[in-house]
Amino acid sequence: MTLEQTVAYKSVSEWVFMEQSNNSINFVDSFLDDFGVQWYQPKEKIVFEFHCHTTCSDGFLSPTKLVERAHQNGKKDLSPLMCKVTYSSFGIEHEETELSWKFLLLSRLILIKLLLLATVTHSSAPSITCNLLSFLKPSCQCYSKAKGIDSSEVCPEQVKVLALTDHDTMYGIPEATEAARRFGIKIIPGVEISTIFYSRGESGLEEPVHILGYYSSCGPTKSAALEKFLGDIREGRFLRAKNIVSKLNKLKLPIRWESVTKIAGKGVAPGRLHIARALLEAGHVENLKQAFSRYLYDGGPAYSTGSEPVAEETVQFIRETGGVSVLAHPWALKNPALIIRRLKDAGLHGIEAYRSDGKLSVYSDLADKHDLLMLGGSDYHGRGGQHESDLGSTNVPVLIVHEFLKVARPIWYNAIRDILQNYLKDPCDSNLQHIVKFGKNNKALKTNTPFISPSELINQCLSLWLSKEERENPEFEAIKLDISRVLNVQRELEANEESK
Ligand SMILES: [Zn+2]
Ligand SMILES: [Zn+2]
Repeated sequence: MTLEQTVAYKSVSEWVFMEQSNNSINFVDSFLDDFGVQWYQPKEKIVFEFHCHTTCSDGFLSPTKLVERAHQNGKKDLSPLMCKVTYSSFGIEHEETELSWKFLLLSRLILIKLLLLATVTHSSAPSITCNLLSFLKPSCQCYSKAKGIDSSEVCPEQVKVLALTDHDTMYGIPEATEAARRFGIKIIPGVEISTIFYSRGESGLEEPVHILGYYSSCGPTKSAALEKFLGDIREGRFLRAKNIVSKLNKLKLPIRWESVTKIAGKGVAPGRLHIARALLEAGHVENLKQAFSRYLYDGGPAYSTGSEPVAEETVQFIRETGGVSVLAHPWALKNPALIIRRLKDAGLHGIEAYRSDGKLSVYSDLADKHDLLMLGGSDYHGRGGQHESDLGSTNVPVLIVHEFLKVARPIWYNAIRDILQNYLKDPCDSNLQHIVKFGKNNKALKTNTPFISPSELINQCLSLWLSKEERENPEFEAIKLDISRVLNVQRELEANEESK
């Protein structure tokens, strides 16, 4: 790793392993080689998944199953896989040979040593040797023998941080957080909001745009307002799905409304994917892709809009509620340049530019041009097809994650502070639940655990999200003191009530 990458890696790992980092654990090994060159090696690769869905919207896995899969990825035994390794800069290619990972590492080390010797004998400066590792970064593709050579896929990795971004709902976050606790995975509470972009002027362009919102462990600052905002969209989705079904019926492709709602699941607002599945079940199409390419695509014969909010207003709303807003899959847009420019003016923080198949330079250029963050995720739905990108398969470089956290952390810090202050203004139970809803001890508050002080409890709830310095700065100390006082008064009142 370069020095810049090492600094970024340390900062990112301190945030990911917040509790351990408070005990000043070192995440990077450093060593000197035979030539006196300092090398840095991360102790663990930290994989982020920034975009995925569950059964709470149109995904196929429950939040618990999704988290389990994120944890299991990367634990798969890679030995029976055929691995193709390409040392791109040197053009040395081992093609589809059966290689064990140990052998790969060994051959890489030997190659490094040889190249080091070569550069030293050519009296070049050690600066060249420092960069050798980045030259030698192999790209790896795995081919499962069982599936056959054709099904090439990027190796899935064990996910350490997972942002759950269901469509227009945050309903799955508590369940995902609960499951994630078992595996030491950190959940970023997220949402993917369906919006509409209207171009001004004569073109009359109208496009559906998806915007991702990333929140702190305490969620949005104006929780009720966001819930209403999302609830209205979900209601619109019901109407929209009904319109699509009636359009399909007119196209002589009868599907029953009941089968659509059954596929969506109880209380879940049906989306186009659910309708596509109903079309498949009814035998009107051969696969889901065909359902979209023939009938359900944007502007297609059965397409219908719902009551989605305006894209710019959504970006502003995410900002106002303590979230980080990121434009999802800009490659799906007809007019990405115009939309990105207008959303940036509205306060957009970033755009997706990374996918499982790599970085898309068009969008990273647009991000640079508008000074936007870059991000990316698998958009995993759990469909299970060969071509679906798996959780953790999008390689977002540590420098990019570091940039994201540099922007996100102060926003989340302010949001958590506002939520705590809201509780002080109105110490009702729902505001208290707001503070601890995704914390690890949220049940302890309810059960009135006698051995933990309220301030200790809040400390524990926030220790996964705020650093020790952040939690112990004077502003936060004062807030915690006030909260302790309020909680103690409430507990005394409750105790008096019970003794009567
Ligand atoms: Zn989307
Ligand atoms: Zn998505």
